[in-house]
Amino acid sequence: MPEKKEFKRLPTDVKPENYTLRLQPDLDKFTFKGQETIDVKVLSSTTSITLNSEEIEIQSACYKAADAGDQNLKAEVKFEPENASVVLSFPSALQPGSGQLCIDFTGELNDKMKGFYRSKYSSPSGEEKYGAVTQFEATDARRAFPCWDEPAVKATFDVTLVVPKNRVALSNMPVKSENDLPEDKDSDGVLVRVYTPVGKKEQGQFALEVAVKTLPFYNKYFQIAYPLPKIDLIAIADFAAGAMENWGLVTYRETALLIDPKNSSSKSKQWVALVVGHELAHQWFGNLVTMEWWTHLWLNEGFASWIEYLCVDYCFPEFDIWTQFVNSDLGRALEMDALHNSHAIEIPVGHPDEVDEIFDAISYSKGASVIRMLHDYVGDESFKKGMNQYLTKFKYKNAVTEDLWESLGKASGKPVLDVMTTWTKQMGYPVVKVSEKQEGSNRVLTLTQEKFCADGVQEKEGSFSWMVPVSISTASDPKKAAVVTLLDKTSMDVTVPNVSPDQWVKVNCESVGVYRVQYSSETLDRFIPAIKNKTLPPRDRLGLQNDLFALARAGMISTVDVLKVVGAFVNEDDYTVWSDLTGNLGQISILLQNTDGFEDFKTFSKKLYKPVAQSLGWDAKESEGPLAAMLRELALTRLGKYGDEETVTEARKRFENHVSGKVPLPADLKGPVYLTVMVNGDETTFNQMMKLYDEADMQEEKVRISRCIGSIKSDELKKKVLDFAMSDKVRSQDTVFVIGGVTGTVQGRELCWQFVQDKWTELHERYKGGFLLSRLVEVSTDNFVTEARAKEVEKFFETHSAPAAERKIQQSVENIRLNAKWMERESTSVLKFLRSQ
Ligand SMILES: [Zn+2]
Repeated sequence: MPEKKEFKRLPTDVKPENYTLRLQPDLDKFTFKGQETIDVKVLSSTTSITLNSEEIEIQSACYKAADAGDQNLKAEVKFEPENASVVLSFPSALQPGSGQLCIDFTGELNDKMKGFYRSKYSSPSGEEKYGAVTQFEATDARRAFPCWDEPAVKATFDVTLVVPKNRVALSNMPVKSENDLPEDKDSDGVLVRVYTPVGKKEQGQFALEVAVKTLPFYNKYFQIAYPLPKIDLIAIADFAAGAMENWGLVTYRETALLIDPKNSSSKSKQWVALVVGHELAHQWFGNLVTMEWWTHLWLNEGFASWIEYLCVDYCFPEFDIWTQFVNSDLGRALEMDALHNSHAIEIPVGHPDEVDEIFDAISYSKGASVIRMLHDYVGDESFKKGMNQYLTKFKYKNAVTEDLWESLGKASGKPVLDVMTTWTKQMGYPVVKVSEKQEGSNRVLTLTQEKFCADGVQEKEGSFSWMVPVSISTASDPKKAAVVTLLDKTSMDVTVPNVSPDQWVKVNCESVGVYRVQYSSETLDRFIPAIKNKTLPPRDRLGLQNDLFALARAGMISTVDVLKVVGAFVNEDDYTVWSDLTGNLGQISILLQNTDGFEDFKTFSKKLYKPVAQSLGWDAKESEGPLAAMLRELALTRLGKYGDEETVTEARKRFENHVSGKVPLPADLKGPVYLTVMVNGDETTFNQMMKLYDEADMQEEKVRISRCIGSIKSDELKKKVLDFAMSDKVRSQDTVFVIGGVTGTVQGRELCWQFVQDKWTELHERYKGGFLLSRLVEVSTDNFVTEARAKEVEKFFETHSAPAAERKIQQSVENIRLNAKWMERESTSVLKFLRSQ
């Protein structure tokens, strides 16, 4: 692995108070001119000022002390590229006091989706045009103007943008020009606007409705009013992340904001609602109160990733979104955090590459999961009260993790700091092992905790222990915790009263806790009827099977035993439970593709999904909710993927009708139909699909198609997809996922990895210093199954540096080794079991 780069924080002897900034982009030459006057305070005598600056040219810089009359000190300018900073040296010392720093500079409107950059779009007449956009988080404000680019150095800004008359200019606060766009005021009088591409006004309506509902919801939740007079939500064509919470001007990639009432799927709507909820939460949590340093990034992201669910649950109860949380966020966190190459939520962060690296599942999903557990532990009233205290105390300032714990501890009277420190300062989480005995009408459980490791092997170094809020439910009142306790030592006994010998007792009620549970097989057997008749609630059914798959992967139980439990989900009708179960079976499916028994797995799966697909049918019923649509999509996709004849025939028929324009596919059927015809298709299908891509006007449709075309069987066509991914027909932010689309088969994974190696220089140049690089490593390596591959991947990255993806590379290699171990240990018995079915 390449050596870690040093990174210096800026000196603190001079601090900015107000920037007067003027930027003039030139959209023909892709350059910009800038001028800034920064009111600064010199705190101690110094002959130089250091600030961040990257890929900017400075024409002149000077300093004028407030009491120096007209006298300017001209600076000598020296860049320090290794620190992404510039040192301005003066001929004589600056004395403590106020002054102004004036800088003239120029830069490039780059094509890297960071700093001040260009974004390409088409006008309604099809003309190719460009806009100029900013993306500053994490460390890229310095690419737009020299500045103190650190979260704790707050200042105010007066911004002037010089743009041609026919262009719209937007900033954090209101500008003078007004436009004919969807806009509305929320009930507190804040102006809310959604900016869509020209001519697509109606696609902003859904996000606008969500935002107008959400702002008052947060106002009430935090008991602090949104502090700015307006908020704009704007869709940007070229955009690396999902969205960026700039105060008063939130930027989104198109697929995270725009909803076409006719052509957007239920999933897209849900996604837009979550992202809008997330970014608006940041207006308080992140913007009003900011983390002191990147170590506390998780405070922003974990919190926003939790409360986005609260907000969507409020706006759209029909999504049953908290159950989906258990699958998408808790599940994702538990998976990554079981690796030996995981990291603590709070982590020392130095170099910008390390900052980019922590925009990962630990900061977002584990952060959100521990907040959910904490919310449950202290209760909603105390949580709201503590949150209000925290935001009030630190508004317009910065805070660290302990500040939040202190406020929540005070509000709840519970040892929040002690409990939460065990979750944020050490990596990983426990598996709680349960043994039980019946004593009269009581069930006595012995709970024991140890670190859960994905390979079942304890860490060589360090001792791990958590303070685990534990809740326990029983068959007589499945949705309510019968006992709530704190497991704050290695082992303890808990008595659950009024339980008959045949009743189940479940640890981790509603899957709120961030831990896994291991039961004896006798205990496990008691759950089987409750899964079958669904008296065990959905989040518990989901959590139970998820734990079982993870324990099997770790070699702590046998996979065959888990597959037997899967048989109990015969009456399952909950979308989210299916979704999680499908993810777990999908992992096994990928491994079994490397054996001669994959056909048996397909047969097993077809049998599993057939009843649910049949009960839903192909066509939406009038009264059904979005979850039924999502479950139909899931079941048909699986059946299509595994080649179920009936499904393939129907999908082909509907696809032809769609292509010919006879009967256009409804949005929720596009995913399964496209995938089914591609997996089972030939060159003709491929060409039809590419034509649909070219004709698609909406980014959602382009993304849907481009992610599924890689599942075409033919290797030659897969190669075409890989080249297509790099072409300018695919937006840079989507390329990685189009590449990943070819990895559905063993040969596809081979092609993908070879391609990524061949194109590494180009890909690294495009994505270095961004989280897309980590995704690229993940999609191209994660699913290999041999030790030889693990070594090969390691070797490649020894000579091909990828600083922003270092941890991901180690995680991927660890995953490959986990796969290899599983294959060795389980594949024979699993294949035997599948054959016997
Ligand atoms: Zn965020």
